[in-house]
Amino acid sequence: MNGDKILVTRSSMPGIEEYIEEIRPMWDSHWLTNMGQKHQLFQEQLMSYFGADNVELLTNGHMALEMTIQALDFPAGSEIITSPFTFASTTHAIVRNGLTPVFCDIDDKSYCIDAEKIEALITDKTVAIMPIHVYGNICDVDKIDSIAKKYDLKVIYDAAHTFGEKYRDISVANYGDASCLSFHATKVFNSIEGGAVVYKNINLGKRLYNLKNFGILDENTVVDVGANAKMNEFCAAMGICNLRHIGEEIEKRHTVYDRYIAGLKDIAGVLCNRIQDGVQSNYAYFPIIIDEAEYGISRDTLHNILKEKNIVTRKYFYPLITDFECYRDQFSSADTPVAKWVSDRVLTLPMYADLSIEVIDYIVDIIAKAGK
Ligand SMILES: *Cc1c(COP(=O)(O)O)cnc(C)c1O
Repeated sequence: MNGDKILVTRSSMPGIEEYIEEIRPMWDSHWLTNMGQKHQLFQEQLMSYFGADNVELLTNGHMALEMTIQALDFPAGSEIITSPFTFASTTHAIVRNGLTPVFCDIDDKSYCIDAEKIEALITDKTVAIMPIHVYGNICDVDKIDSIAKKYDLKVIYDAAHTFGEKYRDISVANYGDASCLSFHATKVFNSIEGGAVVYKNINLGKRLYNLKNFGILDENTVVDVGANAKMNEFCAAMGICNLRHIGEEIEKRHTVYDRYIAGLKDIAGVLCNRIQDGVQSNYAYFPIIIDEAEYGISRDTLHNILKEKNIVTRKYFYPLITDFECYRDQFSSADTPVAKWVSDRVLTLPMYADLSIEVIDYIVDIIAKAGK
């Protein structure tokens, strides 16, 4: 199509005038970072958007995860139960804190952690569960909550895929002791780079605030071994602008989703992700699972056929975390067979608000013809 590449995602941006108006005051204030006015305003707007009492802004989603773990002060040698079907960030956040990830398998419908398999992995070293709401599908939050209560564990959700979603009319960010969000340029909602932690305990927030600014309490007092994870004013301003349009953006994604489903639902061997009951989705990704026996060709072959036609798709998440060079000597993907199965067959199709009906139909047509 016009020889132009159709990328797997495209960042949402406000009109340039709108952004300029938002950043204009900085040419008077000369206040560019360190918890300025835009930071303050964006934080308040997110609290009201999530219906949450506490939100801490960070420089990105990864630091939201990593600093939340640090702020909870787990003893050395502690274990955190998570799943391997995720972005590198989730596991790295655990390991970079010197703790041990324990991998639980996933559910074959939601691709989230299989809550039925968590209890068997709990040891006397387990301190937390770190589940991922994959593609905006929601983990079994009730079961996870009851396990956490029973064994006195913390729950830290990787909620990077869930911006704008509600489950049972509550913003998904409100589940767990903490939910970590990403506002990276490739996500449903972006602040260029950015992240946030929605949390329950005020003390966790105080520590996060401190940790993100080198652990500096005041002029003369440094209380913590922090780092630099502050959100700057330009990013906060982008977040403020994009937040004005998020409803519209999600509506457009919904239209894209419906069009894909209508086109793909009857193709044998192509399984689409379905929106779960009770979830108001953000339509963040459009993953399909390729069942080679039914479809006729493999996921990798389809990926290449689409690539030749300038359609960029992603094997997301592949490889599995436990197959990464940096982890494969310590862990085995054979321990999580469902995650392995999905990872070997999944492909995410281009998905963004302004993806045209014409292009969607073109992609669907290629997929329909490529199989047997
Ligand atoms: C994007 C993402 C992150 C990391 O967020 P950044 O803002 O890019 O640091 C973490 N976990 C998941 C599941 C993600 O998709």
